[in-house]
Amino acid sequence: MAVPKSKVTRSRRGMRRSHDALVAANPNECSNCGELRRPHHVCPACGHYDGREVVAMVEEVDIDDEAA
Ligand SMILES: [Zn+2]
Repeated sequence: MAVPKSKVTRSRRGMRRSHDALVAANPNECSNCGELRRPHHVCPACGHYDGREVVAMVEEVDIDDEAA
């Protein structure tokens, strides 16, 4: 197994990790419902993409249905 030849200092480790930061998402507003959605993705709120509904949405989900 390969073994590191010498200790990586806090400084060198920090320099390597200076490129590891995550960048924030860049959401757009849905043209149909105004909800924020990821660019080039179907709107999770209304199922629209490019001005038409491509995923049928369930109107309402009642969780208490099974117990009754
Ligand atoms: Zn939408």
